[in-house]
Amino acid sequence: MRLRDRVAIVTGGARGIGRAICERLSAEGATVVVVDLDLEGGRETAARLLSEGRESVALRVDVTRRADVVAMVEQVMQRFGRIDILVNNAGWDRIEFFLDSQEETWEKILAINLKSVLYTCHAVLPHMVARSYGKVVNIGSDAARVGSTGEAVYSAAKGGVIAFSKTLAREMAKYGINVNVVCPGPARTPLFQEITAQNEKLASALERAIPFRRLAEPEDIAGAVAFLASEDAAFITGQTLSVSGGLTMV
Ligand code: NDP
Repeated sequence: MRLRDRVAIVTGGARGIGRAICERLSAEGATVVVVDLDLEGGRETAARLLSEGRESVALRVDVTRRADVVAMVEQVMQRFGRIDILVNNAGWDRIEFFLDSQEETWEKILAINLKSVLYTCHAVLPHMVARSYGKVVNIGSDAARVGSTGEAVYSAAKGGVIAFSKTLAREMAKYGINVNVVCPGPARTPLFQEITAQNEKLASALERAIPFRRLAEPEDIAGAVAFLASEDAAFITGQTLSVSGGLTMV
């Protein structure tokens, strides 16, 4: 119960890695605010936590809309009085060669994966600063660390998250706030299934390339997030942790 009495916001918590993070933080004692575009899925996640006797609430928020993010943070503050943990997990990707891609797709990728992180951090951090306590865990991607083919804009967005988190870690350390990044490798989630639906060979090639010879499960990622959100990681900040079964070693 490392996170007893902590209040956590998790974006993109309706399914996939986000849902596993909600479950893990909750299992370790946190009250979890499940934020997602998909309210029904968010409510399903929250219901699973509630059924285990833990407090949870689901909110429908589009994290690419700054005003909605600000309103959500105000709502959480009114209800719980504080925010201890922020996990920026909502993300989206489409695999295509850069020269085949359209500006509309670039905008969507940058908005969901990068700008949303600026919005949530800008809205949440003043409340953490006021209490001289906070843990921010941003979900990046190993695509950004290796320059994955077909993911140029996504890699740029996630690379931006990594760079942003390093500066934020320096600026926030004096307030007792840790900022770190977890980079999943290929993980068995609805997003990954959607991306690889047209290309079964890609999924099996990735699996073969991973030293542990399997995709990550969402729970693998959630364990790393819970660690970084806990006092076990009190002296760790500005770091990027790959959870990829050894696919990337950088
Ligand atoms: P999923 O698509 O399975 O889940 C993401 C969740 O985020 C969905 O519920 C989705 O809702 C929600 N979401 C998307 N856009 C918004 C938005 N604008 N506002 C609020 N919620 C939103 O993704 P994964 O679980 O696979 O990925 C989670 C994170 O991990 C992402 O940041 C991703 O980039 C990263 N990652 C994933 C990898 C993988 O192999 N799966 C590898 C590396 C990194 P909706 O369904 O309604 O769109």
